[in-house]
Parts: sequence; C-alpha cells; structure tokens
Amino acid sequence: MQDCIFCKIVRGEIPSKKAYEDDELLAFHDIQPAAPVHLLVVPKRHIASLADAGEADAPLLGRMMALTGRLARENGSPDGYRTIVNTGRIGRQDVMHVHVHVLGGTNPLGPMVPRH
Ligand code: AMP
Ligand code: ZN
Repeated sequence: MQDCIFCKIVRGEIPSKKAYEDDELLAFHDIQPAAPVHLLVVPKRHIASLADAGEADAPLLGRMMALTGRLARENGSPDGYRTIVNTGRIGRQDVMHVHVHVLGGTNPLGPMVPRH
C-alpha cells in the first residue's frame, strides 16, 4: 500500500526503532508511548484491520500474538503486559494496517478502558 505509514515503515521509507524483524513480521517502538514499554507488532503484508482478516490470515495473526511475550520480556516488561488491537471506527483505529499494541513496564498498568 503506497500511502500506508506502517507499509512505509516496513519498506524503510519512514524510520522506526525496530525491536524484531523476520520475513513476515516487524515490531517497533510506538512513537507516542502510552506506557513505559509500548511496542507495535505488524505484518509486513498489508492487512487493513482485524475486521478485514480472514481464515487465511490466522497463521500470521497467531505469529504476531506468539511474539508478544518474548518482545515484552526483551524490552523491559518482565512480568506481564497488555495487548490491544484497536479495530475500525468503533475501536478508534488510527492507522489502517493491522497492529498489536504491546504495553507494559515494571509497574501494573492503569484500568483497561475508561468507563463509557
Ligand atoms: P491505533 O490507534 O491503534 O491505530 O494506533 C496507532 C499507533 O501508531 C499510535 O499509538 C501511534 O502513536 C503509532 N504511530 C503512528 N505513527 C508512528 C510511527 N511513525 N512510528 C511509530 N509509531 C507510530
Ligand atoms: Zn500497510
């Protein structure tokens, strides 16, 4: 996707602080961290959102989730963390390239969501 910012990060056209990379996945530090540890895991292949993923994407999505424990441990969140996948308008997804947020640190995080 030409104008997608995460595709640009994958292609190296926008710099990022990388935490992990393989042929299918990239993880990098969020530019506006919402917690002491805040990483994003993205597939290199453009999938707009979790709502657009299908059965064929399951292995890739599974690999993204399976990476989070190691990523958290290696980046300063040794004792657990929170994963978030914001999806679409209701989920307030800003960047339309599917990504898993990995939030953590050394102290417990705040409440998961404000009460509506
Ligand atoms: P979401 O609201 O789930 O779509 O979250 C998008 C996330 O991407 C936000 O936490 C942003 O801070 C983050 N973000 C946007 N641009 C960049 C960038 N160039 N490098 C790293 N993180 C970014
Ligand atoms: Zn993209």
